[in-house]
Amino acid sequence: MTTVFKFGGASIKDADAIRHLTPLLEQHRDRPLIVVVSAMGKTTNKLEALLAAARGEGGTQGDEYRQCFDALQAEHREALEALFGDTADSPRERVDALFDELDAQHRRHRESAYARHYDQTVCYGELISTTIVAAWLNHCGIASDWHDARELVRTDACHQAANLDWSATAETVRQRLANSDRVILTQGFIGGTEEGEATTLGREGSDFSAAIFAHCLDAREVVIWKDVTGLFNADPRRFDNAVQLERISYAEATELAWHGAKVIHPKTLGPLQEKSIPLTVRSFETPDAEPTVIDAERRFDSDVASCILREEQVWVEVRPRDFSFMDEPRQHDILGRLVKAGMHANLVDSGAMRFAFCLDDKPERLEPLIESLQGDYEVGREDALTLLTVRHPHPGMMDTLSEGREALAERRNATTAQRLFRSRECPETWHIPE
Ligand code: ADP
Ligand code: ASP
Ligand code: MG
Repeated sequence: MTTVFKFGGASIKDADAIRHLTPLLEQHRDRPLIVVVSAMGKTTNKLEALLAAARGEGGTQGDEYRQCFDALQAEHREALEALFGDTADSPRERVDALFDELDAQHRRHRESAYARHYDQTVCYGELISTTIVAAWLNHCGIASDWHDARELVRTDACHQAANLDWSATAETVRQRLANSDRVILTQGFIGGTEEGEATTLGREGSDFSAAIFAHCLDAREVVIWKDVTGLFNADPRRFDNAVQLERISYAEATELAWHGAKVIHPKTLGPLQEKSIPLTVRSFETPDAEPTVIDAERRFDSDVASCILREEQVWVEVRPRDFSFMDEPRQHDILGRLVKAGMHANLVDSGAMRFAFCLDDKPERLEPLIESLQGDYEVGREDALTLLTVRHPHPGMMDTLSEGREALAERRNATTAQRLFRSRECPETWHIPE
């Protein structure tokens, strides 16, 4: 049975990190292996900046575009040089050709809709990283085959948040990837339409890609290799006393991810749960450290409280222009506009004459939404906010976490408490109350 490994940006951030993959994979060569890889380091952010430059003043002829492009190419060339030197195994020509294609796609899509332009260009981060990693594995004697995920993962044309065509994907994946005795290397995050256009599955989507391949091949296990030893009860970079969770259920992990724990993509767990495929989160730096196991066992879910921060939030309050109620037809209208804008409300509150919600600050989607609402309603907004979510809070915990700052909004149910604060009033490092 196949095992699916996923390596994120941090685990292949430079030549040294890529070298580190070889012993890890060698240890697991006794079984069929699919390796799903993200773009190197922060490449996706840099490709987003390149996209902004391509669509900005000066476009692909401008200095900003050229600088971003050259810096990105130089980083990848540096990794190639460090890994392969002048040897014939270096995929330098292939990587240069991919950079040329990226440049051509920017010129071709400058006038296309933003999301389509995004997918035709940002996908190159993964296409390039996997080309380098595949060549490196072969160079080290680990026989591997590179596969183009744009051909394997079939989606609709909903760019930047593509929806999967499960049956077409399963058919292709089974046909092309089952029963290989070589390591299969492919890209996370990206897919393609029937017409052959690239699509992406949403930021951090490589985890979801790993789950897609595992689901289609009835894999035995998915391992996500990270720069942390497992899933913690809060981001260890932001909470000074975060502790690792040993074992949680698919449902609990989905809740944590859905509320914004930026460690697993929220769509990852569903396809694994359906086939009872366990997900292990492990450290690529200390592979022998005890990992976190996510499976169907729910017994441990509420053992510890978990905290999640969602930053760069915007609070939007919508009121009718006349003295009328914010009734269901009006709420329906407002939520419909949210759906159309491709936005998700992270917290909702309503009253007789107001409907309010908190959104991620994504200007290219948010600004048209606000403009549309202003056409028919009074609209107020406040920016630069932080949403704190606590799963399984113990009594008094939320109050301790809120000390010294006013909550603009809050919500609570049996398992989850949320409060919205001004970011400037929040600490850089948080502490989970005992
Ligand atoms: P990659 O993209 O390389 O797979 P990410 O950077 O997306 O990895 O995820 C790892 C990072 O997620 C960690 O460095 C950590 O700071 C952050 N993180 C946020 N929330 C959590 C959490 N609950 N548990 C563990 N790590 C978390
Ligand atoms: N490279 C993509 C991103 O940074 C996908 C991923 O890493 O999962 O969002
Ligand atoms: Mg990630």
